[in-house]
Amino acid sequence: MIPHQLKVFNTLSRTKEPFEPLHPPFVGMYVCGPTVYNYVHLGNCRTFTCFDIIYRYLKHLGYQVRYVRNITDVGHLESDADEGEDKIAKKARLENLEPMEVVQRYANHFHLVMEQLNNLPPSIEPQATGHIVEQIEMTKKIIENGFAYQVNGSVYFDVRKYNLHYQYGKLSGRVIEELIAGTRDLEGQGEKRNPEDFALWKKAAPGHIMRWQSPWGEGFPGWHLECSVMSQKYLGQTFDIHGGGMDLKFPHHECEIAQSVGYCGKEPVKYWLHTNMLTVNGVRMSKSAGNGILPHELFTGTHPLLERPYSPMTFRYAILQTHYRSTMDISNDALKAAHKGYVRVINGLRIAKKMQYLPDENTPVQSKIVEEIQQIIQNIYKGMDDDFNTAVALSALLNLLKKINSVHNGQIKPAEIGRETFQQMLNTYITFVEEVFGLRQEFRPDIEQVMEVLLNVYRQAKQNKDFGMVDKLRAEFRKLGVVVKDMKDGVDWAYEE
Ligand code: AMP
Ligand code: ZN
Repeated sequence: MIPHQLKVFNTLSRTKEPFEPLHPPFVGMYVCGPTVYNYVHLGNCRTFTCFDIIYRYLKHLGYQVRYVRNITDVGHLESDADEGEDKIAKKARLENLEPMEVVQRYANHFHLVMEQLNNLPPSIEPQATGHIVEQIEMTKKIIENGFAYQVNGSVYFDVRKYNLHYQYGKLSGRVIEELIAGTRDLEGQGEKRNPEDFALWKKAAPGHIMRWQSPWGEGFPGWHLECSVMSQKYLGQTFDIHGGGMDLKFPHHECEIAQSVGYCGKEPVKYWLHTNMLTVNGVRMSKSAGNGILPHELFTGTHPLLERPYSPMTFRYAILQTHYRSTMDISNDALKAAHKGYVRVINGLRIAKKMQYLPDENTPVQSKIVEEIQQIIQNIYKGMDDDFNTAVALSALLNLLKKINSVHNGQIKPAEIGRETFQQMLNTYITFVEEVFGLRQEFRPDIEQVMEVLLNVYRQAKQNKDFGMVDKLRAEFRKLGVVVKDMKDGVDWAYEE
């Protein structure tokens, strides 16, 4: 393994820090999952895919990662100010479904999309409704510790009291005085002592369909609480990585820290990682803004903004081309370029898997080429080690592909780089494409066999000078999405870029 030092940008310290897990080789990673009341859009998919790549790279480095990504199936209200209806309950009411029917439908869909994008399943995928008992227990303890109070069957976190001992707002960089100033309108604060307080438990109004018994009467948990409870249950009171989109920094993650500290006095997370937003024409993609493009609209090209369909791997490639902390704008031009890049990488994968080393005692090793290849391999790792910069790592991978192609087309003889570098070049390429970047071959799985048969007929037709047949076959190849190249030593084919 190449020596390296992974650095990650910690939102809490606002600096890149060396990654030193609390209990190596174990790494605990928690990522806020979807609220399953609707289809996930491509923005959500970007965030989950970025964390999938982070998960894959940590595993590649040899860490044993427990990756927890929850499903929010209760408590996410329409407004961040603890007002409005529960999103799932509302959908159930509007569509005349059981709330768990809504949850199942959209969770199933979410899993399908994650699979299409080749995101690995997390190690544990807990649901908020499966952890009501633990949420009640945590709420009781926070009240006992003096950081929460009960009013009319609801329980609120006392932000000002907490702030006397700890620092509320440190993750998102907000200062409590500003928060207070920003929420001076005391009307509408209802039963909270102060407007910046947030709900740990909400009393269920008559007719509210999702409700559980608690020491404070029938109600349901607040949205932020589930993540404190489930991360702690599965990863411990302090764990390594907590992730989510930037929009979750405040209030969600800020509240999570306050809850966990208010519960046990311990800082819950060592490294906070936040992904930047996917935008459409510069505007953040969101369900509420109405500019959400759904995965199936992308894959079928049925969204009015799209000129044609783009495959799941094309989208994954586009995600890889951007560092997770930069915004990513979706456009036809960007997707077309990503498609070309993806096909190029997959063509390289086909070649790399077939390439054989040819010993040749009369050809000396060219140390300059060997060094170049070694440098490129290091650059791939350097990119990933610099806060998972996939954009840098991917461009280094394309440089490695150039070397592979040079060996394939005879410009570099295998013996010129020696068996070890030859093997290392191919292994690194294959491992990064498949294992770390999670790119898979999307073309028909029997393409190799089909092409073998067709190429035999093609060769025969050429030999017989049957140009009608040659033309027909070329049209077939185009339909299959491949191009045939006449080489010195026969014919070869590749996916059309
Ligand atoms: P939600 O289901 O709305 O809680 O969102 C699930 C995840 O997607 C969260 O981590 C959000 O921060 C993230 N997310 C929401 N909108 C976008 C976007 N436009 N780009 C990237 N991530 C997003
Ligand atoms: Zn969360």
